[in-house]
This record gives sequence, structure tokens and C-alpha cells, in this order.
Amino acid sequence: MTNQDLLKIAQDYGSPVYVYDAEKITSQYKRLDSAFKKVKQVKFNYAVKALSNISVLKLMNSLGAGLDTVSIQEVKLGLEAGYKPADIIYTPNGVSLNEIEEVATMGVQINIDNLSILEQFGTKHPKIPVCIRINPHVMAGGNTNISVGHIDSKFGISIHQMPLLLRTIENTEMHINGIHMHTGSDILDIDVFLYASEILFDAAKNFHDLEFIDFGSGFKVPYKEGDIETNIEELGKKLSKRFNEFCVEYGRELTLAFEPGKFLVSQAGKFLVKVNVIKQTTSTVFAQVDSGFNHLIRPMLYGVTHYIENISNLEGRERFYSVVGYICETDTFASNRRITEITEGDILAFHNAGAYCYTMASNYNSRYRPAEVLWYKGKAHLIRQRETFDDLLKNQIVLELN
Ligand SMILES: *Cc1c(COP(=O)(O)O)cnc(C)c1O
Repeated sequence: MTNQDLLKIAQDYGSPVYVYDAEKITSQYKRLDSAFKKVKQVKFNYAVKALSNISVLKLMNSLGAGLDTVSIQEVKLGLEAGYKPADIIYTPNGVSLNEIEEVATMGVQINIDNLSILEQFGTKHPKIPVCIRINPHVMAGGNTNISVGHIDSKFGISIHQMPLLLRTIENTEMHINGIHMHTGSDILDIDVFLYASEILFDAAKNFHDLEFIDFGSGFKVPYKEGDIETNIEELGKKLSKRFNEFCVEYGRELTLAFEPGKFLVSQAGKFLVKVNVIKQTTSTVFAQVDSGFNHLIRPMLYGVTHYIENISNLEGRERFYSVVGYICETDTFASNRRITEITEGDILAFHNAGAYCYTMASNYNSRYRPAEVLWYKGKAHLIRQRETFDDLLKNQIVLELN
């Protein structure tokens, strides 16, 4: 996908528009796959919440991925995309017993992360195999917004509650077929991750009918120059070796599972916006674009830096800009950022726009959610049209005032 291709997409489909490169998704998947090729049974369950377009889910299916879902709606999207229920794992947090039961009847693998629901589910359905989400209390990253392994986290059953967990399973006579952890979003230090894995291996020894161990996700990808990324190859080498040893200890071939979201789709995505206004104040030059946190909220919500490129003027002289949106709210995408000279009408490309971008978009300011395009086999394919005014009205019931 060249720069010209991107400009053409912005022209053909209008802005703002999300563009995903199927080749990049594929190469990331293959990278992961080859890092763990020494393990006999491996399963990568793509985390739907990162990017849930059905065409992207279909692409993942064609690569051999399963799905990791957090809501019954994501499960239904997966089924719609052609996944077999057995290739879907459902890892909700704080949802009702009813929803979990409904998903279980579809034949999807259930993953339970609290003792209350575990007891209720196990009492009613002791025969349905369940995976357990453990919190090993290992901080995988520095950013407390995205670290879910710490002591105050709402995710998972604490490793320190193992005795009560085992008693609950014994009392209900339920069948546990997997254990799981998802410690956070940033594996920066592989040894920290391996340490958390040891806790999971230790926990696994308490269960005698396991089929898989799921290590969640946390693969870090670079967002800007100088960012470190998870060394997948090294992680693959070390964890595979340890996993194979563990299978011998355990006395059975287990499946090693992961649930990558960001790693598979983040870098494949570009978000294209158009510059409406260049506005100079006493201190700042603003480039105001036809978007805002209604379309891409990560910079405002998490303070994430998305690299921004002026694809209409790649060779221009660099100047400093604050890139902001057009909604009535502070919606700063970038402050005092070095970007090649911007003229009104230019198209800016936000990098790393594949994960948690479109899926977090809203209609704030009654703006339409953008279109989505998949670059697949050398061609652009529209995979979601831009919303229309009818979408804004669709569920509204107009009250007749008298
Ligand atoms: C969000 C989530 C993932 C994916 O995380 P990434 O950082 O995008 O790879 C995996 N597993 C669970 C349970 C999740 O909630």
C-alpha cells in the first residue's frame, strides 16, 4: 500500500476514513506463528475488541486464528464471520450469569473470572467445561491504565484465592479444561512475563483435566520512533521451551493459547483525516482536522502518541503543529509535533490506527462514524460505509408533544 494508494482512498471514499492493510495483519500473524512453531498445539485467538469489522474477522479466520470475545455480541459477530463456536473463547468481566449461559449454549468456550459466577455456573451446569481466569498479580507494564495484574484489579480470580477456588470446583463437581491469564497490555520485559507464566504453571498443577493454558496478550508494538516492542522471537523461544517441559511434567500435550489484539492489527491501520483549518494563535500553530475523539480517542484517553504524517506533502519542510479535531471539546491529537508543512486540504495519516480506534468511535457531536477500507490483494475494498443521517435517527422515537 503506497502513499498514492492512501491518497486515492481518501479521495474515493472521503475523509475521515480508516484503512487496514491485510498484508501487514498476515505478516504479524505469521511472525507469531513461527515464534511458537516448536510447540505442537498452538492457538491464537484474535481479540475482537481491538477491531471488530466482520471482514477483518474473516481474514483472521483464513489465517487460522480463533477468537477471543468479551461480549455475546462479539461472539455473534464471530459466528457471522464463519467461526466455529469451538474456535471462540468468551472472556467477559462482570457480565450476568444469563449472558454466560446463553453463550455456553452456543458451544463457545467459557472463561470465568470471578468466584461468585463460577459457583453459580458450576452448580447449574457441572458438565460444561470452563476455563478460569487467574490474576497472578504481576505488573506487566508501567501504565496503570492498562495493567490488569495488580492487586486492585477487577480482572481475574486472585492466585491467593486458590484454596477457595479449588473448594468451589470440588463442591460443584464442575469440569475445568483451561486456565488463563491476561496481565496487561505491555510485555516489555520477557522475564517478567515468564515469571507470571510460572505462577500459571504452578496453578495448572491443581487441575487434572486441562486441555489448554491461555497466556492472554500484552504484546507491545511500537507507536513512535524509539518505542520498544515485545521481542516475540525471544519470547517464543523461551516460553515454548518451558511450555514443552511443562507438558511433560503435566503428563499430557496441552494447547498453548494467546489472545493478541493490538499485535495483529495496530500497525496495519492508518486513519486518514483532512485538514480543514490552519489556525495560528499567539503561541501555537493548530492544524484542525475533520475528526476528533469521536473517531480516535486513544491520545486523549490513554495519552498515547500516534505518529502523524502529512501524506499530501511527504517531502516538505518540517514545522511544528498541534493537531486538533473539530468537535466542541478539547480534542488534542498531538501537541507541538514536528510534521512536514501542512496546507489546508492536506491529508494526514495517523499510524497505528488498527487497534482500539474504530471500535472506540462514537457519534459525539452527532458526527458519523468513519468508513473502513481493507487493502487486500493490491486493491482497496470498502468494508464499512460511512454512517448517514438515518443512522443517527435510527433508534430515536420522536415524542409527539401536545
Ligand atoms: C483486550 C484483551 C486482549 C487483547 O489485548 P491486546 O493488548 O490488544 O493484545 C486479550 N485478552 C483479553 C482477555 C482482553 O481483554
